[in-house]
Amino acid sequence: MTPTQALQKYFGYSEFRHQQGAIIQHVLDNKDVLVLMPTGGGKSLCYQLPAVLLDGLTIVISPLIALMKDQVDALNVNGIAAGFYNSSQSPNEQADLMRRLQNNEIKLLYLAPERLFGSENKLVEFLKQLPVVQIAIDEAHCISHWGHDFRPEYLMLAGLKDYFPNIPVIALTATADKLTQKDILEKLNLHDPAVFISSFNRGNISYTVSPKKNSFNQLLAFLDERKDESGIIYCLSRKSTESLAADLREEGFSAEAYHAGLSNDIKARNQEAFLRDDVKIIVATIAFGMGINKSNVRYVVHMDMPKNIEGYYQETGRAGRDGLASAAILYYSPGDVMKLKEFARVENNPEQSRIMLKKLDDMAGYCQLQTCRRHYLLKYFDEESPATCGSCDVCLTEFERFDGTLIAQKALSAVARLKERFGAGYVVEFLRGSKSEKIREEHKQLKTYGIGADISKTDWQRYMRELVQQKYLRVEEGEYPIIKLTELSEAVLKGLQKVEFIKAQIVEEHHEFAQLAYETELFNDLKLLRRDIAANENVPPYVILSDATLVEIATYLPLSMDDLRLISGFGDVKLARYGREFLAPVKIYCAKKGLSSKIKEKKPKRERKPKVDKSEKPNATQKESFDLYQAGIGIIEIASLRKLSPMTIEGHLAWYIEKGILDIEAVVTKDKIPTIKDAVESYGDDKLSPLKEILGDNYSYGEIKAVISWMKKEAQQTK
Ligand code: ADP
Ligand code: ZN
Repeated sequence: MTPTQALQKYFGYSEFRHQQGAIIQHVLDNKDVLVLMPTGGGKSLCYQLPAVLLDGLTIVISPLIALMKDQVDALNVNGIAAGFYNSSQSPNEQADLMRRLQNNEIKLLYLAPERLFGSENKLVEFLKQLPVVQIAIDEAHCISHWGHDFRPEYLMLAGLKDYFPNIPVIALTATADKLTQKDILEKLNLHDPAVFISSFNRGNISYTVSPKKNSFNQLLAFLDERKDESGIIYCLSRKSTESLAADLREEGFSAEAYHAGLSNDIKARNQEAFLRDDVKIIVATIAFGMGINKSNVRYVVHMDMPKNIEGYYQETGRAGRDGLASAAILYYSPGDVMKLKEFARVENNPEQSRIMLKKLDDMAGYCQLQTCRRHYLLKYFDEESPATCGSCDVCLTEFERFDGTLIAQKALSAVARLKERFGAGYVVEFLRGSKSEKIREEHKQLKTYGIGADISKTDWQRYMRELVQQKYLRVEEGEYPIIKLTELSEAVLKGLQKVEFIKAQIVEEHHEFAQLAYETELFNDLKLLRRDIAANENVPPYVILSDATLVEIATYLPLSMDDLRLISGFGDVKLARYGREFLAPVKIYCAKKGLSSKIKEKKPKRERKPKVDKSEKPNATQKESFDLYQAGIGIIEIASLRKLSPMTIEGHLAWYIEKGILDIEAVVTKDKIPTIKDAVESYGDDKLSPLKEILGDNYSYGEIKAVISWMKKEAQQTK
């Protein structure tokens, strides 16, 4: 059997990802290999496939018991005989495992390093008698002090080559910095190793940093749209994980805490519930996650800034292992940096302290970026990439530059005419030629009065802020802040200095789950079926089939076993075991809806990239809400019908308001509109949360969104 045939037969995949093919060939050629691949890149396959092809035992070293059980379950479901040996097993189970090993009935054995070499009942002498053909070392960076996750027991692995001199060793990690790499090669004594470095780009993850202001409300707004999806929320302190989990439960979310201070029982229970999709959200310290292979984590949120980019990248990497669109959100406050600085200092070790502080600095730099975040991250890992990615918050914000010299001259001369004695609000009213009594009569006689009437109040406010930022104006603080000229003003007024403005606007946010047009109802049926099967077999649901596989089924509607074979993720064993079971709901669904199979549309090469829909059409969920609304059903009722929040429904309707299809007063009561409009004009519309904070509890996010949409429509019409 060739590697490609085995890939299809055992794993149900039609092609290798990254450099999997070459890596596997190296192992088959009996050579040592170091593999650097991002989380979710597909490292496991690099030793699992050779394990299937080679005649003998593969030993897999792995740091965590939780990880082992999962991997072993997943292998067994694919029809590959695998086992693990650890302290959680009964003596009987252990004896049974030893017997199966001696009978060569097991292809892969998972172990912690201390099981192999530790002083108590070490297994190395026993295993040396068996036909070992490959040794895989997962999370290999744990051997290095330079990594962020050093584990002393990994140092025992230095003896590996003495016991198994001619067996190929494959070391794998998602941490890539040069020092760690070198350390791994040296400490493991690898012979003439080939080093494979894959791209660290995780194209399906979108990165966003938000100011940590009112972050709980921001979080709620984010989670409201993702009630059915799984996610991890990281906090710095144990206490805050518990209180945040409790707060989220109070808001109706299914959330549990996880940190090292909880009892083993509770930790195991919460983790298990999360893996099985019984709990949707885990609020955790960084103690959670290593070895969590759950492939359908749709988002990772950081409530606090992490200590370094390595940790951040690994944590966010836990999202979207199945390749579907996923989000990474970080709430940033400069205060976090100060707090972390205190922890970064390692006592009596100035060298180590310096390294940690530098890492912290790089992390803070990431949070303050005005250039592409993905580019910064990849550059950190020494990888070249395009200057913009199109899917981080910075890239999704369009910066339009234009010549603002004339505008600047109008503003500066107004300030000069008003003798530098008024605040920005007054200057703007004056420029716009406001008839208000606030404007003094004598000022209404000035030539500059009303010279800026063609520009909206919001835009003027933005320009004033920009002029201050660019130091053509300054604010003098006092009882009332007053706008003054600066030494740079004169050159502008004389026409010697050009002024450029940047106009910022959010282009589009796209963190929607899989943009394939799949049948959601069927997808939910399939999920329920998967859940039942998983419960029966006592494994997490994603071990049976990944979300990505279910999405494919719900998209291409396979109606026969041959059709199903073309769906990614169905190897021979899964096809035989579960094929018929999964065909049944598809057949019923298609019959009910009068649909036929679309399997012919499935291209052999899968497009994993989510598509950004820039068309002028509403998306399906917006349309569904709108249709219900048109049918005379109220927002609250639609929300409960659709199991979404009223805010989400209002958001859906906002699209129709902006297009002028729906009247604003349908969503927002008349008396609320001017207040919201005022707030938007004063603070801009690029971020909702500050507006919400100003407006208070009587105004919902949905209402604010609706008014912004309406204002955009109005602006469009007056153009
Ligand atoms: P890592 O250990 O690098 O974090 P995993 O080994 O858990 O990543 O793989 C992540 C996901 O990608 C798994 O669901 C795995 O089945 C899937 N996968 C791996 N290789 C391929 C491939 N060649 N084609 C499609 N999916 C793959
Ligand atoms: Zn970007």
